[in-house]
Parts: sequence; structure tokens; C-alpha cells
Amino acid sequence: MDIVLVGGGHAHVHVLTNLAMRPLPGVRLTLIARDLATPYSGMLPGVIAGLYRPEQAHIDLVTLAAATGTRLIHAEADGLDRAGKRLLLAGKPSIAYDLVSIDVGIAPSLTPIEGAAEHAIAVKPIGSFLSKVDDLLARCRRADGPRRIVAIGGGAGGVELLLSLRTRLLAEAGRSGIDAGAFSFTLVTDGEILATHNAQVRGTFRRVLAARGITLREQARATEITATTVRLSSGDTLAADAVLVSTDAAAPAWFRGTGLDLDAKGFLAVGPALQSTNDPDVFAAGDCAALVASPREKAGVYAVRAGPPLADNLHRRARGAQTEPWTPQRRHLALISTGERYAVASWGAFKAEGAWLWTLKDWIDRRWMRQYQDADAIAARRTSRAG
Ligand SMILES: Cc1cc2nc3c(=O)[nH]c(=O)nc-3n(C[C@H](O)[C@H](O)[C@H](O)COP(=O)(O)OP(=O)(O)OC[C@H]3O[C@@H](n4cnc5c(N)ncnc54)[C@H](O)[C@@H]3O)c2cc1C
Repeated sequence: MDIVLVGGGHAHVHVLTNLAMRPLPGVRLTLIARDLATPYSGMLPGVIAGLYRPEQAHIDLVTLAAATGTRLIHAEADGLDRAGKRLLLAGKPSIAYDLVSIDVGIAPSLTPIEGAAEHAIAVKPIGSFLSKVDDLLARCRRADGPRRIVAIGGGAGGVELLLSLRTRLLAEAGRSGIDAGAFSFTLVTDGEILATHNAQVRGTFRRVLAARGITLREQARATEITATTVRLSSGDTLAADAVLVSTDAAAPAWFRGTGLDLDAKGFLAVGPALQSTNDPDVFAAGDCAALVASPREKAGVYAVRAGPPLADNLHRRARGAQTEPWTPQRRHLALISTGERYAVASWGAFKAEGAWLWTLKDWIDRRWMRQYQDADAIAARRTSRAG
């Protein structure tokens, strides 16, 4: 039997290690990965701020596949032939599956803003974002490089990202003799910042942004981006040399041709056992899935949490047992950094802040990463189980 995992996202890295610990006779596990290094979203702003090296925030899927005994195929899936039970791969032969699980994240969605596709830097999907940041940093080092930086999208990702980028740019300017005072930073968002968090958290970040000299434009919708400006729905125009877009992203287009049930936005509709609502041999988790019974915001924390129930239900289905429902918790503790070694905790109506919360976040993130980065420990656990 072939279980094929599509995408090395936050849920699938857990599935790889979990299923390696309890292999089923006659079951082969295959990972299809477009990118061979998976970034961990929780640490990405820290990489941008210069607090982590890029490799600390990435899981090397080649190493993980080797340590877990998984067949790895470096390819991009672009369709599913459900009648023939084959996964279609761009430019490569299709491969057979008995069970397939999809954890491919989201696709960029720049179309609602005119000119964004030509002039903006898409923050999502996160996989390709770091190389775009490196490119921006290189341009900023030039005497005539970008100075007026605008970020669009006031969710946790956009806020953390702009704060982190500011920290890094000002540190680099200091080192290379560029006038740090020439930089300006603006955050534009069509509602309030951090709309899914409580009012105290929003208040804290308004204060933090103001203290860092970042101009905040709330209730302002960007309608057009040019090489030098961002136009807002109010008619105002902001000067901008570099524009980062971190608004809601879209579902991968290839989902539409699969015949699988999709939600209104085109994401894969799954039931409580993370199975497609119209095909029990197709599973999905993370940002690309829409849990119809318990919708949640698209956040790495839910993709991470989906890992154990997904592994368990794939295991159950493979051995012919009944799958089990899972309900993601409604609230989760979010630790949002301020672009330095300082973080704000948000949980329901609760808020706290401090350097100690960054230390806690750092500890949680590193501990999570170690589970998938330490190949020797994974292989040793497998051997001890087998022995
Ligand atoms: C700057 C930023 C900061 C963020 N910070 C946080 C945070 O602190 N906490 C939080 O909870 N969330 C955060 N998020 C959100 C978080 O990044 C996403 O929710 C999370 O990455 C979703 O995980 P995933 O497993 O669904 O997909 P991803 O992490 O995007 O993984 C998908 C994988 O699938 C692969 N793939 C894609 N398409 C294909 C294909 N067709 N074939 C094969 N492989 C494919 C990709 O290469 C990738 O490895 C942040 C987002 C951004 C942009």
C-alpha cells in the first residue's frame, strides 16, 4: 500500500516521524516536496530580524526523509487523478497512491491590488519569502536603494515581519554607514491591526509601532501599487520604494481540477478526521485545508496541531480501522515578537509582555524544531522501537 504525503508542511513533518515509529507491514510512505527545506513560521521573523541563522528555522526534508525511511520525490504536485488513484506531478511521471494527504500551504494572492504582481513582494507563501528578503536587503545596502518601506496586511505575520525587517535594516545601516534616518516604515491594513487578537494586544502593538517610528494606517485599503507609490481607497497616496504584501492568501489553483469538495475560497473541505468530505482516501491539513465543522484561522499553530490526529487517522485508514474525529482548540496562545528579543502573549482576553516571553517562545520553537532536525535522535528512536 502506498501512502503519499504531498508537501513537507508543518503537519506532515510530524506524520513522517510518527509513522516511522510504528510502521505497518506492506505500507510504503512517500513524500512529494516542491521545496527541500521547510521553513518554520514561528522562527521566520527571528531570521529576518537577524536573531536566528536561516538553517535554524528550516527543516531539511532530505535528512528527515532519510532518518524516517521515507521515499522522497523532489517534485511539485499539480493534480489528482482520483479515478486512477494517481498523483500528477509537474514535468514528471505521475505516481500511484492508495491514501494521499495534502499539506501544501497557500498560494500568493496579489490580484486584488492592482500592480501588486509587478511591484510588490509577496510574503506568502513563506517558503520563497526569505530569498526575497535577502534580495531586498541587498538592494537596501546600495546608496540609491529603497528607503521607504510599506507593508500591507496587519495580521500577526505582517506586524511581526515589518518590525523584524526594521530591526535588521537599521542594524545593517549602522554597520555599513548608511543613514538609518533615511528609512521610513509604514503599515497599512484595511481593518484594525491584529484583528483576531484582543484590544489590549492591539493597544500594545500600536504603542510599539509608534515607539519604533512606524506609521500605522488602519482602516486603509491598498488599491494600487506602482514602482514608487501605494494608493489607498481613501484616495491618499503613500510614497513607497518597496512594498511587502501579507494579506490573505489564496488556495492552490490545481485543487479546482481534482473534483474534491472545496470551501467558498477554494480550500480542500475536510471533515473532523481530516478526510476530504467527498473522498475518504484523501486527507488534508494545515493552511490548504478547511475544516468544515470547526473552521479556524490559517495559522502555523493549527497546522502543527493537526499533525498527530492526521498521522493517527492515516495509520487507522491504512489498517482498515475507523478514523477518529479531531476538534482543534478554539483558542491558542500566540506569542508575537516585537522584532527583538521581546514578545507579547495573546490568549483570549489575556495579554502579557516582556523579554521573558521571547525567551519562552524561543524555547518552545527550538524544542519543536529539534524533533525534526536531529536526524540521529530520530533514527535512534526508530531503531529502539524496531529492536
Ligand atoms: C512572516 C510570517 C510569520 C508567521 N508567523 C506565524 C506564527 O508566529 N505563528 C503561526 O501560527 N503562524 C504564523 N504564520 C502563518 C504560517 O506561516 C502558516 O500558517 C503555516 O506555514 C502553514 O503551514 P502549512 O503546513 O499549512 O503550510 P506550509 O508551511 O506553507 O508548508 C507547505 C509545504 O508544501 C510545499 N508545497 C507547496 N505546494 C506544493 C506542491 N504543489 N507539491 C509539493 N509540495 C508543495 C511547500 O514547499 C512547503 O514546504 C506566519 C506567516 C508569515 C508569512
